[in-house]
Amino acid sequence: MNYKIGVIYGDGIGPEVVREAQKVLDKICATYGHTFTYEEILMGGCSIDATGVPLTDQAIAQAKASDAVLMGSIGGNTATSPWYKLAPELRPEAGLLKLRKELNLFANLRPAYLYQELKGACPLRDDIIGDGFDMMIMRELTGGLYFGERSTKEIDGVMTACDSLTYNENEIRRIAKRGFDIAMKRRKKVTSVDKANVLDSSRLWRKVVEEVAMDYPEVSYEHMLVDNCAMQLVKDPKQFDVILTENMFGDILSDEASMVTGSIGMLSSASLNETKFGLYEPSGGSAPDIAGKGIANPIATILSAAMMLRYSFDLDKEADAVESAVKKALADGYRTIDIMPREGDNLDGITQVGTDKMGDIICSYI
Ligand code: NAD
Repeated sequence: MNYKIGVIYGDGIGPEVVREAQKVLDKICATYGHTFTYEEILMGGCSIDATGVPLTDQAIAQAKASDAVLMGSIGGNTATSPWYKLAPELRPEAGLLKLRKELNLFANLRPAYLYQELKGACPLRDDIIGDGFDMMIMRELTGGLYFGERSTKEIDGVMTACDSLTYNENEIRRIAKRGFDIAMKRRKKVTSVDKANVLDSSRLWRKVVEEVAMDYPEVSYEHMLVDNCAMQLVKDPKQFDVILTENMFGDILSDEASMVTGSIGMLSSASLNETKFGLYEPSGGSAPDIAGKGIANPIATILSAAMMLRYSFDLDKEADAVESAVKKALADGYRTIDIMPREGDNLDGITQVGTDKMGDIICSYI
């Protein structure tokens, strides 16, 4: 198969980790007989330096002309970087928000998977972890509170702020369908999370999810209130397969779920639209504190590339190969500094490696 991949190297550790993911994709091409071509797209701080804005029209056109986009993180040190003295719409993150909007990326996927080898980094008790957990948080990304009308004004002499949470049935239906589609590629269970005991938007959410569920008889589904879900994630995370939820609930729950897996350097993500197109990026930021040191963990970006193979290109076998190679690298004791065992833990069979070496090892296992 031939695919054109837009590549946003971004800022900080972005170029370092994206290079490793490209290495892995190239190994997939060589092993399975595919051709991936790459086109560099400027976004974030590096785009500000080169063009004066975080995202140009040309960059948007390049992204739209790609089959998928692989991205490192963007942004710099928010306290010291000159990028943060610019107006908000000219800062690095404004580029990403604009790109998500232009590409209509309404579905955000964040897997939370606990590798047995990294159990030590999980803050939960052994009896709760059991054999580990493997869930996918599916968050609606373009509606709800973050995009509703907002205002701050004085009413009767009192400053009053208002944010509105709006969803229409079409927005709910398209994300629900995506959630059930993803569940069909996994263990076929959807937990739809809402606050239907209080919010109208949640009651509509629940109704539409029930309608969509009728089209997926193989998928079991349940509704769960968001406050209960927050508790269940730390009480019994094994129960979840796909968690389907709206924008703000998803923002909070996906961070909670990811933190019980250990390092941010392991967390991949994807943002999808109604076509097969997706933007794939690590969940973490540009880590300016370790940029240029060759120690960043490239696994989150490599696993994001695996998601691209699975969800944009339908190359499930190839995605499995990348995920297995990551597991083998961990099982054989290779660790970047962020996932090293804690002080005092057993270091037998553990080898600390840098960004580049971790990429090489994963490639060698494909
Ligand atoms: P961060 O995720 O960049 O860093 C938090 C901590 O995690 C740091 O100690 C960092 O060294 C570590 N870390 C992150 N990724 C790592 C990796 N792959 N390997 C090893 N360690 C890793 O968060 P921050 O410091 O709050 O933000 C830094 C910049 O990133 C800011 O400008 C922020 O706006 C931006 N940011 C961008 C995105 C994005 O591009 N989607 C997301 C979040 C933050």
